[in-house]
Amino acid sequence: MNNVILLRFGELYLKGKNRGYFEKTLISNIKHSLKTLPCMVEKSNGRYFITHYDEMQEIQLIDKLTKVFGLVSLSRAVEIPSDIDEIINYVSNLNINSKTFRVSVNRADKNFPIKSNDFEKQLGSIILKKNKDLKVDLKNFETEVMVDIRENGNTYISTDKISCAGGMPLSTAGKGLLLLSGGIDSPVAGYMIARRGLSLSAVHFYSFPYTSEQAKQKVITLANKLTDYVGHITLYMCKFTHIQEEIHKHCAPEYMITIMRRFMMKIAAKLCKQYNLKAIITGENLGQVASQTVESMTVTNFAQTEFPIFRPLIGFDKQDITSIAEKIGTLETSILPYEDCCTVFLPKNPIIKPKLDKVVYEENKLNIDSLIDEALKQIEILEI
Ligand code: ATP
Ligand code: MG
Repeated sequence: MNNVILLRFGELYLKGKNRGYFEKTLISNIKHSLKTLPCMVEKSNGRYFITHYDEMQEIQLIDKLTKVFGLVSLSRAVEIPSDIDEIINYVSNLNINSKTFRVSVNRADKNFPIKSNDFEKQLGSIILKKNKDLKVDLKNFETEVMVDIRENGNTYISTDKISCAGGMPLSTAGKGLLLLSGGIDSPVAGYMIARRGLSLSAVHFYSFPYTSEQAKQKVITLANKLTDYVGHITLYMCKFTHIQEEIHKHCAPEYMITIMRRFMMKIAAKLCKQYNLKAIITGENLGQVASQTVESMTVTNFAQTEFPIFRPLIGFDKQDITSIAEKIGTLETSILPYEDCCTVFLPKNPIIKPKLDKVVYEENKLNIDSLIDEALKQIEILEI
């Protein structure tokens, strides 16, 4: 008898003609995620299993697997020979800690002598005999005893189904650039888009000495937490101080935030071009603050037109975003009280519905290209 972990993939993308590519990428992502834990990823008759692992490391293995995009669920299972007596013996010794249960038999091996329905009834009554308080409930069961009789001569029996992150395998959509602040939203935006198959690099704009070293460290910690899901992040640290000082000195104060955001987009586009990234991702959310109106986003979009800007949180409520931040483990870091560069030189009355021509007029008071070149030259690259 061997302990194995049975993996279930999303169905949709496994049906099209890209199946081979998606499957190969997913398996390689799984192996990468488990690289510190000795085990094997095995395929047998269309199913994938984790085998040959140390039982002491099962919890860590499961924790890592639940964070691999493209996996829908997993079950801890035992592998035994497809022998009627062995299966009955194992099932009759199961310890079921619930009030209701059902047995589901999948007879992939058509040579197995008992039909699934009959075997379900037989195993169910054996369990009932041993556990007097248990009841069968085919619809609202608490425990499902899953018996999977495979063509390879082995049967896999499990009683739990653990949900995984779902989505599409990481990197099947290419790679994008996340604008990562220290706030709650942008790490969640990164998670949401990575879940659709886009792997990530990230850029953070900081304004030392107006923002502290701790604020920078906070962003590194956030990027680190995201790597649980995203595997690896190249983080570009961009010093934004001179740009902000120049805007503050020369442009109408109500345009400060709008112009700043346009600089962020222009720099992001340059990084995308240089490092072959396909899209820009932000944590913007409609209506949350002055810079997040339709008009502000339009003006921001026109700062560069080469790359699409993805805003995966656009229609989310703050409460939804916070719940995801909590689930993915970024919330506790995001709420640490360090300044973001956006709060430096904050005007009293930022413009809520900026017009493009006016913004461009204000912006043209600056030497935009040389400010961007200067910022790009100073970028620090961190591999996380
Ligand atoms: P967040 O919680 O992500 O900081 P927010 O609700 O505070 O978002 P803003 O401060 O207006 O909203 O920022 C909107 C988006 O712009 C952020 O989600 C992020 O993608 C990007 N952004 C803001 N500040 C920075 C920064 N210092 N570095 C990189 N990106 C930033
Ligand atoms: Mg913010």
